[in-house]
Amino acid sequence: MKKIALITGSSRGIGKQCALLFSKNNYFVIMTYKSSKQEAMKVLDEIKNQGNNAMLIKADLSKKSECMKLVNTVKDIFGKVDVLINNAGISIQKLLIDCSDKEIENLISTNLIAPIILSREISKLMITNQFGRIINISSIWGEIGGSMESVYSATKGGLISFTKALAKELSLANITVNSISPGAIETDMLHQISENDLDFFKNEIPIGRFGKACEVAELALFLASDKASYITAQNIGINGGLN
Ligand code: NAP
Repeated sequence: MKKIALITGSSRGIGKQCALLFSKNNYFVIMTYKSSKQEAMKVLDEIKNQGNNAMLIKADLSKKSECMKLVNTVKDIFGKVDVLINNAGISIQKLLIDCSDKEIENLISTNLIAPIILSREISKLMITNQFGRIINISSIWGEIGGSMESVYSATKGGLISFTKALAKELSLANITVNSISPGAIETDMLHQISENDLDFFKNEIPIGRFGKACEVAELALFLASDKASYITAQNIGINGGLN
């Protein structure tokens, strides 16, 4: 039986590239999306055109009830998950003084609470199976803090601490937990920043270019593999030298 990878937010960007790469590497992928149904269907078609199959589930992970619904669907159909990639995320570029309660709560529930709830529920299945890989997609801003992104930075910093602590709880069950902290990666999220700021930002990157979503996916694939069996409780940067 193929290993099963649950990848949240796989309609676009980094999650999409993870879905395509894991599928190519013999995983059965469970993809999730919130509202980009057409994009998600295209990813599913691409996977099918490669001769593989995958499953697509709509879930607004900012809502705990939808996190639980997703978990129950996966549990009922598959009974196990080998790899969980908590990738779905949102960002807002605003000064903290301009952020509404709703925006703050949405950032925290999508970027931090959802990965915590999904890790709690999916790790129960992994413990039964005595195998698992949890990979949390954090951010460079979670390490060093980003101006105009203070709440986003807080959620991503929280995700890194959560990763390190959970890894200690789960290591004896043969489950590794790591986070990936991308720098600036070419996706829709990056293009929320103005062209001027993007140019300035690019000049700050020692490698001289933005990263590609497929480069992040390759790191996730490695962390999920047997080659990474002794790597846990780590936060791994992929940022072209930006720090
Ligand atoms: P993206 O292209 O904007 O894609 C975001 C994905 O998350 C989409 O699939 C989206 O679904 C999903 N999503 C958003 N809100 C959701 C919700 N409430 N429930 C379920 N799914 C939801 O972003 P990306 O750049 O690939 O980012 C992926 C992850 O990498 C995020 O956690 C982000 O913080 C992190 N990251 C990105 C960068 C970067 O430069 N791009 C840098 C550091 C970290 P829909 O398509 O249905 O909306």
